[in-house]
Formats: sequence, C-alpha cells, structure tokens
Amino acid sequence: MVIEMVNVGVLGATGMVGQRFIQLLANHPKFEITALTASQRSAGKRYEDATTWYLDDNMPESVKDITVVDTDPSQVKDVDIVFSALPADTAALVEPKFAQICGVASNASAMRMEPDVPLVIPEVNPEHLDLIETQQKNRGWDGYVVTNPNCSTIAMTITLKPIYDNYDIKRVYVSTMQAVSGAGYNGVPSMAIVDNLVPFIGGEEEKMETETQHLLGTLEDGVVTPAPFGVSASCHRVAVVDGHTEAVFIELEDPCDVEEVQATMSKFQGLPQKLDLYSAPKNPIVFRNEENRPQPRMDRNEEGGMSVVVGRMRRDPAFENSLKYVLVGHNTIRGAAGASILNAELINEIIL
Ligand code: NAP
Repeated sequence: MVIEMVNVGVLGATGMVGQRFIQLLANHPKFEITALTASQRSAGKRYEDATTWYLDDNMPESVKDITVVDTDPSQVKDVDIVFSALPADTAALVEPKFAQICGVASNASAMRMEPDVPLVIPEVNPEHLDLIETQQKNRGWDGYVVTNPNCSTIAMTITLKPIYDNYDIKRVYVSTMQAVSGAGYNGVPSMAIVDNLVPFIGGEEEKMETETQHLLGTLEDGVVTPAPFGVSASCHRVAVVDGHTEAVFIELEDPCDVEEVQATMSKFQGLPQKLDLYSAPKNPIVFRNEENRPQPRMDRNEEGGMSVVVGRMRRDPAFENSLKYVLVGHNTIRGAAGASILNAELINEIIL
C-alpha cells in the first residue's frame, strides 16, 4: 500500500521547539517536511548553517540542505500543514495568513484563547476540534488554526483529566520547577540560572490558570464554558535543561481513596490511544512508586517524551478530601512539538 504523504512546514524551525519538530518529524510515517522558515536573520541560509543545534541526536540529514525561508506564506509552497514554533507576537501576525491556505498547528500562545480557535490536548478534549468548522465559517479560511496549551499546562491537565472525569474537583494548586529550554534558546542567561532559581516566569501562571479551565471546559453551540474549579499556580525556573517538574495539590468536594485515584489515572487512555496514532504514548500517565521519583533527568523521556510521569501520590493532611503528587513532563516534546504533531495526526485521522 502506498501511503500518501502530507507535506508539512515548520515555522520557527531554528529555535528550541522548531528543532524538536525537526527531530520528531524526521521519520514520521505520514508527515514529510517540505518547508522550513525562521526570521530574516536565517532566511536564505541552509538549515544546517542557520541553526545552533542543541539536541542530543544529530541533525537529520534530510533537513540540512533545505533553504530556510522567511516566515511568509508567499515563500512557502505546497504545504498541507505548518507547525508553528514562533514567538507569540510573530505568530499573531502570520498564523492567520497561513490559515488562509493550510492547516496551522501552533505552540504559540497568540491565538489560544480566541473563542473559535480550538485549544486541544488530544487525550483531554478532542471534541473541541469541532470549533474548526465554526472558525472556517467565521473567518472564511480554507485552512485552520489549532493550538496546544502552554508546556506546564499540558502536563498537569493530562493528569487532571481522569480525576475530573471521576471526581468533583474543588480547586487545584500547582507549583512548577521549569526547565530552561522552556524559555527558548536565548531565553535565560546562564548567569541568571546557574546556582540559582528564578521565581517568576512572565505570563506563565495566568496561562496555567486559564488554559486548564478551558481545556476541561465543555463545548456547546460553538462556545467553550470553562471548568468551574479554581486553579492557582506559582511558576519557577530551575537549572534543568529539559523537563518541567510540578507539585500538584488537589482539593476534591468529597472523600476519596488515594489508591483508587491512582488506579484511575494509571489506566487512563484517550482517543489517540484508541486510534493508535503514531505519536500517541501507550500510557499518557506513567506512575513511579519510588519515593524519589519522578525526576526530570530520569523520567522526561518516558515513551519518547510523550508520557507524563507521576509519583509521590499521597493524601494531603492539610485539607479535607485532598491529595497531592509530583509530575514530570518533557516541555519541548509533550509540552510543545509532540503536542502539535499529535493534534495534527488526530485532525488528519478524524476530520480531513
Ligand atoms: P526560540 O528558541 O526563541 O525560537 C524562536 C524561533 O522563531 C526561531 O526559529 C526564530 O528564528 C524564529 N523567529 C524569531 N523571531 C521571528 C520573526 N520576527 N519572524 C519569523 N521568525 C522568527 O523559541 P522556542 O522556545 O522554540 O519557542 C517557540 C514558541 O513555542 C514560543 O511561542 C513559545 O512560547 C512556544 N512554546 C515553547 C515551549 C518550550 O518548551 N520551549 C513550550 C511550549 C510552547 P531565528 O533563528 O532566525 O531567530
């Protein structure tokens, strides 16, 4: 059987997330990279010359000679989908232009909270993809924009989904310890982070608080009503290269058995697992029972970086009906490039 390949482009291909896209797409069975874009600083150069490659694996041979072009739809020919790893301000300007001609699966925050733009984690709220139809009607686009949430939000919300489906959540508190790759290649100067911790990440707490409610919200008549529980986040940058760690505290309305909650989370699977999508982990949530796990260096690459690893699940004695745990999620894979690719695989499977 001949598989018809989908031509894909990567916008912002030279950056941290852009490189993950290249790595994850290099051997993809359905998506073939045909275009790479970046800023005018890189346009016109071979990808190998334009990029400071930071990943452990070597740069795939197949992309080295591709000429990077300016991030402008007129420069990008014959693509079905573009994956966007652009800074938010650039994304706000160019993603709508690309959506006139092709699908856009975006990591950027620019359009995430627009009412007709689906913000999706395929295991959590695939039904929100119905907004694509509304979006195309509203905007007259042939393509679409679908977004994935912020890297910290993705990891936490995957763990909340099976809890929310089975218990009434009253509120959630989360304290993050986020890797430096989350800020992009030029994001955090080494002098600021080595031997240190930075207790502020601009906009991150607000994103975790609103995006989580939106993802677990219900879509009815083209409108998402956010989930009704409060989320309080405190976000911090730590001297880890990849992998965000989060301490999550959940207050439920009713008493719960912690072991039962853990069992519910362990067996959780979503639509990508049912459809056996290429980038879907077999287990979106993996538990470690050792008292000193999860740790970013040891656990971030579970199932190719697409699973969220959870440990230290216990009752919280400070509040009634409460539990707490620690999670690790790979921020540039499950939290960024892998998330967008899984969104595109799902759209390709169920809509196109
Ligand atoms: P990054 O390392 O700074 O890379 C930015 C990319 O965008 C580079 O390819 C850069 O090209 C290009 N670019 C910058 N300004 C541009 C312009 N004016 N026009 C066209 N291209 C431009 O950033 P990143 O960490 O990969 O993040 C990319 C996006 O993903 C951001 O919106 C970020 O918030 C989001 N995100 C990141 C993570 C993460 O863990 N890093 C997770 C989730 C979401 P040049 O090389 O030519 O400058």
